[in-house]
Amino acid sequence: MNKRICVYCASSEKVPAKYFEDTKKIAEGLVAGDHHVVYGGGAVGLMGTLADTVIDRKGKITGIMPSFMKDVEWNHPKVTDMVYTDTMSHRKELLLEGADVALSLPGGCGTYEEFMEAITLKRLGQIGTDIVFYNQDGFYDPIKQLFAQAVKENFMTEEHMNGIQFFDTVETLIHYINHDSQTITNDIHEAVVR
Ligand code: AMP
Repeated sequence: MNKRICVYCASSEKVPAKYFEDTKKIAEGLVAGDHHVVYGGGAVGLMGTLADTVIDRKGKITGIMPSFMKDVEWNHPKVTDMVYTDTMSHRKELLLEGADVALSLPGGCGTYEEFMEAITLKRLGQIGTDIVFYNQDGFYDPIKQLFAQAVKENFMTEEHMNGIQFFDTVETLIHYINHDSQTITNDIHEAVVR
């Protein structure tokens, strides 16, 4: 087993086919690298494609889901290693626990909430998790721009953006995860811009 990769991605079933295609390629790349995929446990949207592909390729996958989602059968029936939590907050905590990498694929507000929490915890020195985005066709350019603006106007510092990276292709993303990714814990004293 190589790295533990927490993947955040969309639950929507209706996004363009290209997002499903690249999610499949990324899942294949993660299994080929012998990584352990940890995700939200869903059976739908990009989450479903991620899990289907990892299972199909005999990779290792863990789902972490609040019990109320199981009650409405949103859990992936083929993910055998499923952890159920009482709350969304605990789910997010467990998703990140021990994660070497937090990888965001394109998604909606649920995905944004998850990666924003990871970025904030990293800034505060609470996690060392490497934070990476798959910026398919510039999907995450607005987020990149927002952070650049925040740094430019001193809401954040360049250091807060250390260890947060965007990749435009599946190949560069997987190569980075396999060979260059590392966990770095920021100094809590540098969290505030003074
Ligand atoms: P979004 O990017 O808005 O689609 O949100 C993805 C996140 O939404 C997941 O990680 C879950 O927190 C939650 N979510 C929404 N729908 C589902 C579902 N059917 N199954 C599992 N998780 C879901």
